[in-house]
Amino acid sequence: MWIDSHCHLNHENITELGKPSELIAQARAANVSGLMTICCEIHKEFDELKQIATNHDNVWCSVGTHPHDAAVQNEQDISAEDIVNMVNNSKKVVAIGETGLDYYYNNSPSEDQKASFRKHIRASHACNAPLVIHTRDAEDDTVTILEEEGRPKGVLHCFSGTEKLARQGLDLGLYISFSGILTFKKAEELRKIAQIVPLDRVLVETDAPFLAPVPKRGKVNEPANVVHTGTFLAELLNKDVNEIAERTTENFFTLFSKAKETFKPL
Ligand SMILES: [Zn+2]
Ligand SMILES: [Zn+2]
Repeated sequence: MWIDSHCHLNHENITELGKPSELIAQARAANVSGLMTICCEIHKEFDELKQIATNHDNVWCSVGTHPHDAAVQNEQDISAEDIVNMVNNSKKVVAIGETGLDYYYNNSPSEDQKASFRKHIRASHACNAPLVIHTRDAEDDTVTILEEEGRPKGVLHCFSGTEKLARQGLDLGLYISFSGILTFKKAEELRKIAQIVPLDRVLVETDAPFLAPVPKRGKVNEPANVVHTGTFLAELLNKDVNEIAERTTENFFTLFSKAKETFKPL
């Protein structure tokens, strides 16, 4: 059994493959028994994501604002307390994010991104929900803020950073999640990094509809495809594929322990 720890079930690009319920059914048929659908813009999509999670067994969601949308969020003045309330009001809201810093696109000014990131970290400490961290071209600031704000629990999602960041993240106690990028031809560096991550800190994800793994590369991605990334990881590490499925699932429930409370064996 696999878990897709990070996807966007409501994204406009994924709907061409099917409704959330159809994508969830397809995932189950592929032995992906659980998934977390991730929030990027609270006002726009949180209610919808919470509804999807509430309506389906073993589907959970997060609440938070993507660094791309940090400026909008700050304008809308969503507080850390608001985020905490959104976590505490539902059994199916089990994480905070995705939050972090993205200086590659810089869709929001870096000052807004940093303020938003700090706010999410404070919310995480206040309600004990782990963070889903997105970081791109912003490694030093990411690590500095995580340290300054008191080392929250969480995952560096869709890891594509340097080995230095991986080691710093592990030292901070974070998990590291690999997406389909791991299977891409040019991702030699990332494959080396995957080999230094302890087996009790690794997660897998699709980030669907983005980043479909080989052999689906170039197509719209969906949660069922996390099996390809997981199988690839097992081969890379010379491990039995069932062991990697078990370990990554166990890690998911260790980190996002609230999800375990509503897990239903299928
Ligand atoms: Zn992301
Ligand atoms: Zn994402």
